Amino acid sequence: MSATALFGNYARSKLAFDHGEGVWLVTKDGRRFLDCGSGIAVNSLGHSHPHLVSALQEQAGKLWHVSNLHQTPEGERLAKRLSETTFADKVLFVNSGAEAMEAAIKCARRYHYDNGAPERFHIVTFEGAFHGRTLGTIAAGGQEKYLEGFGPKAPGFDQVPTGDLEALKAVIGPQTAALAIEPIQGEGGIREIPTEYLRALRKLCDENGILLIFDEIQTGVGRTGKLFAHQWSGVEPDIMAVAKGIGGGFPMGACLATEETAKALSPGTHGTTFGGNPLAMAVGNAVLDVVLGDGFLEDVQKKGLNLKQKLAGLVDSHPKVLEQVRGNGLMLGIKCVVPAAEYVAAAYDAGLLAVPAGDNVVRVMPPLTMTDDEIAIAVERLEQAAIAVEEKLVEGAAE
Ligand SMILES: *Cc1c(COP(=O)(O)O)cnc(C)c1O
Repeated sequence: MSATALFGNYARSKLAFDHGEGVWLVTKDGRRFLDCGSGIAVNSLGHSHPHLVSALQEQAGKLWHVSNLHQTPEGERLAKRLSETTFADKVLFVNSGAEAMEAAIKCARRYHYDNGAPERFHIVTFEGAFHGRTLGTIAAGGQEKYLEGFGPKAPGFDQVPTGDLEALKAVIGPQTAALAIEPIQGEGGIREIPTEYLRALRKLCDENGILLIFDEIQTGVGRTGKLFAHQWSGVEPDIMAVAKGIGGGFPMGACLATEETAKALSPGTHGTTFGGNPLAMAVGNAVLDVVLGDGFLEDVQKKGLNLKQKLAGLVDSHPKVLEQVRGNGLMLGIKCVVPAAEYVAAAYDAGLLAVPAGDNVVRVMPPLTMTDDEIAIAVERLEQAAIAVEEKLVEGAAE
């Protein structure tokens, strides 16, 4: 029946893109779509960014892969830059978000093991979380729909409702190694964790010798207008998982940690064949060249405010379709009244790509390079989509 030779684990759209230019994606038959999904918060600098293209091309002509048996100067440089701009002293490069979270979890467990407390291996996570799709990270995320049918859930993960400090205190015990949280839940539906709550987590961790892990795989690398979202709060983790935007579309991830924590992953304890590969490192450095450039992050903040205000106006004028705007910087979500998937489909028809999330939210996460003119086009198209959904509602009511 189906013509595809691919596994059926994705319900893909019918769109097949041929190339990209900045915030635009172009299909084989020449239709242009405004990309407000960024390949799920990955294309931080849009498509075919000249600086990224030349960095990749130059590295491709020089050296692709040597493995972690040898030095990688590009990786040394990227790690140094990440440590200079964050809480971290050390960086471990991997190939994806789930691998970055796996490394974070292993680092936390091994830290306590090394400190003579092997029984401390439980990680506390929060309802609505998403940490990846490996056996470890589906256990961390705790969502039944991702765990079902894949055998016993990996042990050592406890989940509590987000925002409920008493429930958290009740679950913490001599078995607790770490708390892991996304500063803004992405897949969960752009749910911001209040600064107060992050502060309370830090305090609880300090009082109990527990490590704090931030999953900034989606929120990181300028998405919210700071290099990392937690920098808005001033609360620093011990370990942080990064991926998505750091590669601007090239697959890579990183686990960042303090010196004290990172030393748990001593020689032989952990590894990855491809992690820190020179191609990925060259692109990662090129992404930082732009994101750390003068005024870039301030610009993301301004554009984020502009877009959020316009989306709030849209919600006000279309209350039958849209309910609320939330998020920070260019990590925004529109909570829908109609099914989110329906609004996303209408947006496709209007020539705009957005991404559905949990809690009936549509994520609007354009490349950080989007201009104010392009923001105006995005809002126009999102309005067109809202009108189309409204018209359908009227037709439905008339039948
Ligand atoms: C996407 C995502 C992951 C998983 O990343 P993959 O690269 O798909 O493995 C983990 N955590 C968060 C918060 C994410 O958004």
